[in-house]
Amino acid sequence: MPGIDMTYLQKTMLDLLVIPSVGGDCDEAMKRIASEFEELGVKTSVTKKGALIGTISGKDKKNHRVVTAHVDTLGAVVRKIKENGRLALLQIGGFAWSSVEGENILVRTMDGREYSGVILPEKASIHAFSETVRETLRTDDTIEVRLDEVVSTAADVRSLGIEVGDFVFFQPRAVVTANGFVKSRFLDDKACIAMLFAAIQAMKEGKKSLAATTHFYISNYEEVGHGVSFLPEETAEIVALDVGIVAPGANSSEMCVSIAARDSRTPYDLAFRKRLVELAKKHDIDFRVDVYFRYGSDASVGMTQGFNANFACFGPGVDASHHYERTHLRALEESTKLLVAYLSE
Ligand SMILES: [Zn+2]
Repeated sequence: MPGIDMTYLQKTMLDLLVIPSVGGDCDEAMKRIASEFEELGVKTSVTKKGALIGTISGKDKKNHRVVTAHVDTLGAVVRKIKENGRLALLQIGGFAWSSVEGENILVRTMDGREYSGVILPEKASIHAFSETVRETLRTDDTIEVRLDEVVSTAADVRSLGIEVGDFVFFQPRAVVTANGFVKSRFLDDKACIAMLFAAIQAMKEGKKSLAATTHFYISNYEEVGHGVSFLPEETAEIVALDVGIVAPGANSSEMCVSIAARDSRTPYDLAFRKRLVELAKKHDIDFRVDVYFRYGSDASVGMTQGFNANFACFGPGVDASHHYERTHLRALEESTKLLVAYLSE
């Protein structure tokens, strides 16, 4: 099997992590991804709702494969401009407000102006509000954005060009530690896009041909449930590259690839899962099979839409998903190795 260029994977991942991309506004990240496909000599097409598909032909030209990863991440939109100049928000994707409390954010206006701010509870200062700060449940009604601007009325905010419906991006705080841990909002799922490129690059460098014509589908609305919304006609199977869930009691690990057996939507196809497990064993890839209690992937959600294809899901084990996430370079490498094995055989 060709080796994985981890320097390339890491660089591509960090490049993507720092580009703001929330479900609904992923253009900038999509442009970066399109240029990466181009760099690798992969021709691309864009779906009507802005997803990007890079296609490489392989030995089997009849039974195509789709490998998908999503560029959209969690974030918010401005729901209301309050009379005191603070912003009320509505979430995009599923997360707890407490997981982003104190996080710096970026608001992007319709005409492209960007402003910084921070997510805080309405009652943030313990000096001012005492135990209320500890006891208040963080909800849409109790958290808000404090803009880093001199504003004290709704009119002040509107004069900056900020309006209801503007997208709000959380600061990624992407870090790779000296011992190989990777932390960011959100590794899910940009780490998998970087893996996808590292796999294509490894196949190219190793002059290996793909087992079948493969469509690399970068979806842009996965976190809100309609990522991959159609499959090219010849598609025989779809693999979603998405994070494994590392938590107490879960089987996944930050040091290996997780192969999904079931998520909250459906069990994954048994024969397909066995094929992935056999590939992992054959190539000495560290893997765990896991089941996810509250989880959907572009593969499992696609099945509930009635796609006519077989389906599987795997990816790096990630701790504290949809919070300040962490994995390890080892998990990214093992996952990429499994992807290369899958693409080749
Ligand atoms: Zn995901």
